[in-house]
Amino acid sequence: MPEPPKPDLSAIPSMTVLLGESRSVPGLRDEPPAVLADALRTVLERLRRRLLDGATQPEDCRVQVLLEQARQELAARRSGRLRRVINATGVILHTGLGRSVLAAAAVERLASLGKGYCNLELDLDTGRRGRRGQYAEGLLCRLTGAESALIVNNNAAATMLALNHLAQGREVIVSRGQLIEIGGSYRLPEVMAAGGAILREVGTTNKTHLRDYEAAIHDRTALLMHVHTSNFRIVGFSESPGTVELAELAHRHRLPLFDDLGSGALLDDELWAAANEPTVPASLRQGADLVAFSGDKLLGGPQAGILLGRREVIEPLRRNPMARALRIDKLTIAALEATLELYESPGRARREIPVLAALSATSADLSTLAERLRESLARRMPEAQLRVTPGESFAGGGSLPAWPLPTVVVQWLPAAGLRLDALAARLRTGDPSVLVRVQDGGVIFDLRTVGEGEIEDLAEAVAEAART
Ligand SMILES: *Cc1c(COP(=O)(O)O)cnc(C)c1O
Repeated sequence: MPEPPKPDLSAIPSMTVLLGESRSVPGLRDEPPAVLADALRTVLERLRRRLLDGATQPEDCRVQVLLEQARQELAARRSGRLRRVINATGVILHTGLGRSVLAAAAVERLASLGKGYCNLELDLDTGRRGRRGQYAEGLLCRLTGAESALIVNNNAAATMLALNHLAQGREVIVSRGQLIEIGGSYRLPEVMAAGGAILREVGTTNKTHLRDYEAAIHDRTALLMHVHTSNFRIVGFSESPGTVELAELAHRHRLPLFDDLGSGALLDDELWAAANEPTVPASLRQGADLVAFSGDKLLGGPQAGILLGRREVIEPLRRNPMARALRIDKLTIAALEATLELYESPGRARREIPVLAALSATSADLSTLAERLRESLARRMPEAQLRVTPGESFAGGGSLPAWPLPTVVVQWLPAAGLRLDALAARLRTGDPSVLVRVQDGGVIFDLRTVGEGEIEDLAEAVAEAART
């Protein structure tokens, strides 16, 4: 049988030619040569394979075609990097979008400290070694009434460290109604196992009594644990002992009570009272020996895990080798310090910490913003069907699931022929990326999570997506 003709690979331009020509292409000329060469190799390899398969045409070998493919290849690679997203979903603590937005003061602090050296572990007064995070820990104690504080990477780390130190190889008593799963692979029984503690479940899903805890206490019990069911509620025929009763029981048996508060509402505040959200100072006052919570949920700071409580419980944790592995980075400390300083004047915290500002926005504030967005969109898309209407926002991030947050949204009913999911995808992949809710046959822009300074960019991105 005659051999099939060998494909002609000589039509492929050389790397030298391609690199030379790329210098006159706007999307490519600023790329570092090594990066460009790597993208071109990918493109050429693809072309070679298609030529060998006989699945290509001569024009595929043209220099301009290959350079355009290299430009697309680089754009596809770069699209994975972190970039700005306008969050019009109304979900305030959107885990997919980085949970809390930092206060301007926090951003300034981390930017200025990131540029140079800082006194991370040096006491500048004495010239001796200082402790990382000491100032932030002091602030936390003063703000909440805790005796001691320890900051690690996130609340999962805080919980694992606490359980490893206080309960390795021993039992931790938890109500069945509190064995939570938080998004992103956090499941309490698994965190407990990773920390080396033995889970001792008591009660039932909907009802756990104090006597259930008491009956489970024996000489291998390390501690009692209370877990805030952050992201769900059990309503109806349900019951579980509060912090006061649990602390009293634990202390009667000389055991500590560990309260995983999750969201971390930092101060006693009308906002949290209205939302029926337990606060950090309240838990400590009610007798918890150790509380843990996230820095980037209701606190509104950077990702961190914060442990607060009695000195003799917290101090030994610092010497656990896990604490070293879970230690927090200087930029996080910088942002956390600036955020906590805002809490020193609670009014300022509520105005300047974006999570708190979003939660306390009034319908008058939101209506004004919605009207501005509607006008801005109408200017760009005079034919569009737009209306300002009531809606509902969500705290998100596993916080306040049962707290209704009435909001004001702009609803856009696109012309027939524009598919809503395709439109939402175009908005998501645009620059800036825009995330929206699709609901009731329209696209919803919730102003609760859109900054005042983002309205024009948002309108422009929408007009662009409607055009293409
Ligand atoms: C969110 C949450 C966690 C996990 O916190 P991360 O900071 O995301 O690690 C743990 N426990 C509870 C109760 C939570 O709500």
